[in-house]
Amino acid sequence: MNTAIPGVLYAKSPNGAAAPLVFDSPHSGTEYPADFDFVAPRAVVRKAEDSFVDELFQDAPDYGGYFQAALFPRSYIDPNRSLQDIDARLLDDVWPDVISLSEKSRYGHGLVWRLCPPNHAMYDRKLGVDEVRRRIDAYWRPYHDLLQDTLSAVLRDFGQVWHLNCHSMPATGVPRAMSGVIGGRAVDIVLGDRDGTTCAPAFTQFVSETLRGMGYSVRINDPYKGVELVRAYSDPKAGRNSLQIEISRAIYMNEVTGERNGGFDALRGDMGRLMAAMRDFATATVG
Ligand SMILES: [Zn+2]
Repeated sequence: MNTAIPGVLYAKSPNGAAAPLVFDSPHSGTEYPADFDFVAPRAVVRKAEDSFVDELFQDAPDYGGYFQAALFPRSYIDPNRSLQDIDARLLDDVWPDVISLSEKSRYGHGLVWRLCPPNHAMYDRKLGVDEVRRRIDAYWRPYHDLLQDTLSAVLRDFGQVWHLNCHSMPATGVPRAMSGVIGGRAVDIVLGDRDGTTCAPAFTQFVSETLRGMGYSVRINDPYKGVELVRAYSDPKAGRNSLQIEISRAIYMNEVTGERNGGFDALRGDMGRLMAAMRDFATATVG
């Protein structure tokens, strides 16, 4: 069954036989809500999008996988942050719930962004508590509810689930600490399992070896370990495996113009091969 909530998300179920695989793309959304009302330059804000990542993985149903993608931009409210990651400096009143800031909030990139990289103020105003609540209820929560429901349904059907949380990383134009450039050399792909806590080590190993076999350079948990969407619902001992993938945008797009480059189709083909390999790995593991 395919699902869509206009402006919020869309989702697709497996074509034919299902496999215990779930793919999600939380940051590829480009539909800017009318009440966003930000002041940072639009071209700069758009660089926060994980452009085209949904297109790279939306064939997941052909490999037995479930797929969902956000339609709203992560700069409006970030599905990959916890509900407690609220920057009080943004608000015109006291936040009534628990606040627990992540290190992302130090850079201004908590649940609702205060800053846009590299250092632009997102707003020239304080946000109302109700305004932030509405973003949570209308955007963050439906995305999480659907993902959690899908993961639980697959776990129920198969006894285990493998979730790939899909992102892209800038290769240029951002501080080095936020890019995939390490030691002056661009890395193609970074996998994150929060230091081995969000999935069975064999899964991280399998995905990294599959990608290296295609010729990509791969790093694990460096510099991206994975954030809320691989943390929230994972429990490898209970069969819930979540892994984050960050793909260098330089491989498939021009980061200045924001358009796909000549590498896009090859990468999309490789991600199809990755999904096929994951299907075989997952179905063999559940028997
Ligand atoms: Zn992302």
